Amino acid sequence: MDCVFCRIVNKEIPAAVVYEDEEVMAFKDINPQAPVHILIIPKQHLTSIMDLDDSNSDVVKKIIKVAQNLARENNIDKKGFRVVVNTGNDGGQTVHHLHFHLLGGRFMTWPPG
Ligand code: 5GP
Ligand code: ZN
Repeated sequence: MDCVFCRIVNKEIPAAVVYEDEEVMAFKDINPQAPVHILIIPKQHLTSIMDLDDSNSDVVKKIIKVAQNLARENNIDKKGFRVVVNTGNDGGQTVHHLHFHLLGGRFMTWPPG
């Protein structure tokens, strides 16, 4: 399967990995939109949140925990941050492997573009 994030998981292409365990990986976004811009992904290939069900959604709990820890490590836990999951075409999803954007280090405007 030709999936760029699976390739990062398999170490076929390099990434600035900031966290990794058996189920989850986090790495810096190649085109950061904020001073802190980290992508947190399940290692298992799931296309989007629409692929989540009772059999595989435990990983989401883990991803939120990783997001909390990375927010603390990057000193944005108190100032605040945004977690974004773009989904599908209208959601602006460009990589079809489920990923959570952790964005922070500047004020995030609303509504998003
Ligand atoms: P999406 O638009 O699907 O929500 O987010 C995909 C994100 O993946 C984008 O922010 C993009 O910059 C990032 N990205 C795409 N290809 C790569 C890559 O090869 N390495 C890294 N580190 N990030 C990537
Ligand atoms: Zn994948």
